[in-house]
Amino acid sequence: MTIENINTKICIVGAGPAGATLSIFLGKMGIPHVIVDAAEFPRDKVCGDGLDLNVVRVLNHIDPNIVTNELMNGGNGFTSSEGMRFILPNGKQVDIVRNAASRQKSNGNKPIFFVSKRSDFDNLLLGKVDKSIADVRLKTRIDKIAKQQDGWLLNGTSNGQPVEIKCTFLVGADGDHSVVLRHVGERKIDRNNYAGAVRQYWKGVQGLHKDNLIEVYFPRSLPLSYFWIFPLPNGEANVGYGMASNYIAKKNINVRKAFEELIKTDPYLAERFKNATAQETVKGWGVPMSGSRRKAHGDGWMLLGDAASIVCPTSGEGIGSGMLSAYTASKFIQRALEKNDFGAHMFTQYDREIHKRLGREEKIFRFVNNIPGWAFSTGLNTVLSNRLFQKWLSNTEMQKWVETAYNTPIEVKMN
Ligand SMILES: Cc1cc2nc3c(=O)[nH]c(=O)nc-3n(C[C@H](O)[C@H](O)[C@H](O)COP(=O)(O)OP(=O)(O)OC[C@H]3O[C@@H](n4cnc5c(N)ncnc54)[C@H](O)[C@@H]3O)c2cc1C
Repeated sequence: MTIENINTKICIVGAGPAGATLSIFLGKMGIPHVIVDAAEFPRDKVCGDGLDLNVVRVLNHIDPNIVTNELMNGGNGFTSSEGMRFILPNGKQVDIVRNAASRQKSNGNKPIFFVSKRSDFDNLLLGKVDKSIADVRLKTRIDKIAKQQDGWLLNGTSNGQPVEIKCTFLVGADGDHSVVLRHVGERKIDRNNYAGAVRQYWKGVQGLHKDNLIEVYFPRSLPLSYFWIFPLPNGEANVGYGMASNYIAKKNINVRKAFEELIKTDPYLAERFKNATAQETVKGWGVPMSGSRRKAHGDGWMLLGDAASIVCPTSGEGIGSGMLSAYTASKFIQRALEKNDFGAHMFTQYDREIHKRLGREEKIFRFVNNIPGWAFSTGLNTVLSNRLFQKWLSNTEMQKWVETAYNTPIEVKMN
């Protein structure tokens, strides 16, 4: 059997949101590279499918028309919303919606959340890669990675045939089970900064908000966990449930079973799901959260997105932080290429840059993770029911988020 040989300066493993975004920005800089993914696209990824304002921010750096023409107005499988609905442990329902004055200030329709099946969103993003600069190899799985004197030797299969890729610089954008991470020796699961979550698509869930508010429910029976319902077009919804891994271990919880049990027996959910139909079996995946400070660079390598463990620990959102890490990485790679130096010292500040927006969330998560369940529930009931807090969130804070996502350039400090 013949082996296909590929030689490239830069190889990106993984074409999810992180890998595809890096490829797009390298393309804009005119930097040739190879990007491989084990899957054929469109492909599914177990996820809540919620696209936050970090996603919008990076998309606006790629091309603002993507948000206005492709994501808005319910086209292409996207829903958009101006806020969220919380159902608190005490049963109270709280809607936090960006208020009209703040909407007027930001001049026009600027949603806060989008929801799109990952098969659609990831495919849309990969479609933005400039194939005259990027060599895109789908159905190409990397299984073995060896360090060589002048770079890396990657072995795997492409469309069922053996493939060998030689590269100087290796980028791991291959998600939570990253093969790159394993080979650079940094894979450790840190239960204190990891979560387990499940997803199931449903149709016909009752009581979805007419403006597609995304919903987060905190079941009283299992504090420190959250259940979500994110509306999709055509009466579908992404429904899921997740919690921190140390909580799962401490309480010996089977997340999948707990999820199914909640839908059947929790009075609030049972009512809403009584006429709904599941569209698939329950699917689970891990959530590597920011907080463990996994090393994300070294001599001739770099990690992005889930491979770098940078999911926001309070919200579970990792698509936006993954895309931000890719934008940041593109700047460091550009400089390394200019200096023809891919040594670890060229990427020293990369780790700081990809964590800089997550510090406050890490602190909140650490605090919440160390308090008893009843205190968590009482705190949520008190804070989210507070009118002043609601006003501050729907007015001042949301306006700031929108300004940042739609109008503020992403700053990357290289030194
Ligand atoms: C249940 C659940 C709900 C979530 N909900 C949300 C949410 O609502 N919003 C949000 O922002 N985040 C959410 N997240 C987190 C989010 O899914 C991830 O943070 C995000 O997918 C990270 O993107 P990525 O590009 O780093 O990795 P991925 O999206 O995992 O992409 C990695 C790519 O690498 C490829 N790959 C893997 N191994 C190899 C290999 N050996 N060779 C070649 N290719 C390979 C895969 O095929 C894949 O395409 C959720 C996670 C879970 C588990």
